[in-house]
Amino acid sequence: MLAALVLPGRGFAQDTLPDGPVYVVQEGDTLWSVAVQFGISLNELTTYNQINNPDTVGIGTRLVIPGLAGVSGELKTEEVAFGEDLLSLSRKYRVSEIDLARLNHLTSPAELFVGRSLILPVQENVELPGDRSGLAEGQTALELAVLKGRNPWEIALLNELPGPIKAIPGDVLRLPGTSLSGPVGLPGEIEDLQLTPTPLVQGKAAVLQLKGSQGLAVAVSLLDDSFEFVGSENGSYYAILGVHAMTDPGLYPLAIKGTLANGAGFSFSQSIYIRSGGYPMDPVLVVSPETVDPAVTRPEDAQWTALAQPVTLQKQWQDLFVAPVPKEFAECWPSQYGNRRSYNGSPYSYFHTGLDFCGGVGTEIYAPAAGTVVFAGPLTVRGNATMIDHGWGVYSGYMHQSEIEVSVGDQVEVGQLIGLVGNTGRVTGPHLHFEIWAGGVQVDPMDWLEQVFP
Ligand SMILES: [Zn+2]
Repeated sequence: MLAALVLPGRGFAQDTLPDGPVYVVQEGDTLWSVAVQFGISLNELTTYNQINNPDTVGIGTRLVIPGLAGVSGELKTEEVAFGEDLLSLSRKYRVSEIDLARLNHLTSPAELFVGRSLILPVQENVELPGDRSGLAEGQTALELAVLKGRNPWEIALLNELPGPIKAIPGDVLRLPGTSLSGPVGLPGEIEDLQLTPTPLVQGKAAVLQLKGSQGLAVAVSLLDDSFEFVGSENGSYYAILGVHAMTDPGLYPLAIKGTLANGAGFSFSQSIYIRSGGYPMDPVLVVSPETVDPAVTRPEDAQWTALAQPVTLQKQWQDLFVAPVPKEFAECWPSQYGNRRSYNGSPYSYFHTGLDFCGGVGTEIYAPAAGTVVFAGPLTVRGNATMIDHGWGVYSGYMHQSEIEVSVGDQVEVGQLIGLVGNTGRVTGPHLHFEIWAGGVQVDPMDWLEQVFP
């Protein structure tokens, strides 16, 4: 009863609906989930709507939500996009910030994180104003209005400002116009901002695509890392974000900052959830002590990590990355990315930084995509190792090889022979340890074999 599933196709009409805003039941909803979403009890919801039999409720059923005096009309749920804040949503949906907060039980702006499901009033026949414009340092809304040939009081009214001189620098104001689109919390020069996936996931790469006018200088930061935007031919800029596998799940600020072609600065920050990657714990691994001696591992880790930091502007890969081993081994993985590890009984502070492929000593290794070799040589822990730069901050790494068939500076093509599988370095047997680096950290290589990054 508590989690009674709402089945499709059972829409029914209540005879007399009580007063209050209406939520129309969607696919996947249950009476329970609707009650939770609106912060009321299941009993309140069913009693208020005179529901005696939950089976009579289905997709399309109109439920009146109690306890929201002053709010009327139809409500819907929508995920908060990157670029929105309470003020911008308030302006977009023509509902006061106070009512938005009340509808969603918000107690702090930090709760408005990217990907959060939000209850919003459905807008019908409301012309949503179009242009967004940033206020330069020292510029007032009054000056902006004059500059844009607008009535300053119209702008004040539209943006719920007490008066045309009450806006503050860095504020993004809406101007009367056509339909509204794009990230409302950012200046109109930024036409579109798409982050995938949301929420972010430990150990996964994410792509932030920004469509905007020429002459934008933009940087994005998450945690202590900043990610560069790289341009492309079609008017889009891309930043590839890497989320470290050991980042604690939780809310983190994702910030975007930049300068418009006219020199006006802007910045925007919004929380985003990083969820667990669900990586399992491996049994304690026993290895020879010198291969986990910090005196050996630290300098080597630093050297290896430094190789993958530069962002070269030419994107060299096309389409999917291909498996770096012959067909018969392409889906043979003795160990996958992300597993939590303990060496010789240490705390589980290590993780498996790549995807291991089967293969005996001498099995061929191929480049998974075109790129430039930035490292080829012997290392203590990694054995004979190679690293390839694929551009845009994306690198691939190969360890424990018996032979290396390329040299630093070589340009390689997808499918080219680059080395042979071996058992050099910290290993218990021959295999290929294959890494993908994105945004300066190791990410799950499997994603790159299964989905196309831009
Ligand atoms: Zn490995």
